[in-house]
Amino acid sequence: MNIAVLRETSAGEARVALMPDSVKKLLSANVSLTVESEAGLAAARSDDDYRAAGAEVSADRNAIIAATDVLVTVNRPPADVFAALKSSAVVLGFLRPLDEPAALEPALAAGLTTFAMELVPRITRAQSMDALSSMATVAGYKAVVVAAASIPRMFPLLMTAAGTVPPARVLVLGAGVAGLQAIATARRLGAVVEAYDVRAAAGEQVRSLGATFLEVDLGGLKTEDAGGYAVELSEEALQRGRDLIAEHAKTADVIITTAQVPGRRAPLLMEEAAVNGMKRGSIVIDLAGSTGGNVTLSKADEVVERDGVTIMAPTNLPATVPVHASQLYSRNVSAFLNLLIKDGELNIDLNDDVVGPSCVTQAGKWVNQRVASLRNGS
Ligand code: NAD
Repeated sequence: MNIAVLRETSAGEARVALMPDSVKKLLSANVSLTVESEAGLAAARSDDDYRAAGAEVSADRNAIIAATDVLVTVNRPPADVFAALKSSAVVLGFLRPLDEPAALEPALAAGLTTFAMELVPRITRAQSMDALSSMATVAGYKAVVVAAASIPRMFPLLMTAAGTVPPARVLVLGAGVAGLQAIATARRLGAVVEAYDVRAAAGEQVRSLGATFLEVDLGGLKTEDAGGYAVELSEEALQRGRDLIAEHAKTADVIITTAQVPGRRAPLLMEEAAVNGMKRGSIVIDLAGSTGGNVTLSKADEVVERDGVTIMAPTNLPATVPVHASQLYSRNVSAFLNLLIKDGELNIDLNDDVVGPSCVTQAGKWVNQRVASLRNGS
């Protein structure tokens, strides 16, 4: 059985699906592994590193695809790759099944078995495969680093002979995985941090990182589902949050927004008026850009200036930290592969409580019911 890693072709992508240390571990499972030449270069891993780990390296992309049993990717492969794979092949990666289900039609048509890392259930047994958390961790960290490098002031409180420099004030909206990492990073740099989330459980985590948790009276409204995720709020409840945010935005130097509701458009947390109320020289980094953004003025992958306030919405910050992002992702996909491989052969058990829910297509059928209903409803 042959596992393959191709060079990622999306613009700005620097990650690679498997790093050499994961290759070495996978090879002990009695499989072969082919890597497209230069696939790891942007993540600081050379073809020789892959050869040393035991992989075959080839520059013949078409030949690799034709011989692949399991293709491991970071981003969804282009339609021509789906079409060129054997129908018995398996594809594993961030396939965006809920945001762009139509783009998986070519995989369905080709009869492929596809698994989306976004659909791996967040249960204890699958923690080592939780690639969303891995990437959110990197994005939350990098957002603060970008903000710190962009604002015209320093983060820490400094007492010098020339006077006292006050600490930067950072407001984090959405205290999930990315938000908590942003809080921790901003605190390490010495900022004073406030955070807001609709899930009450986030309050304790925010406070344990030394930040202040902003609370809104949502009148006992249900804000999270059984899985611990936020649910879509009513317009009235959202507005209460926006009013509180607009008030605290006035004193913030940095605002990092990370609020998402799985499978839905990101909630709108800052309207124009809230940005207009911010100080000159402040910055907003909207990490929800790929699902529509938390800030009305933000534009995905663009920098917007508004009366001295900068608004950024980078959609792929993990790709700007390719070594560690690839390392974490590589371990996540390797852990998932271990569920699919037994004695060097593919052994796919859709009754498994991690494998089944992660499967998008198999033998020309939609397996995941959420994706199926998105397609059938369209
Ligand atoms: P996410 O990316 O879907 O959302 C980010 C944050 O936005 C969440 O904290 C959410 O509550 C918040 N949010 C949504 N709507 C909002 C609104 N209107 N206003 C303010 N905030 C809003 O979530 P995530 O970061 O991937 O994870 C969310 C939760 O899942 C976390 O509590 C985390 O602990 C939990 N989780 C559990 C596991 C596990 O058990 N294996 C793994 C990862 C995450």
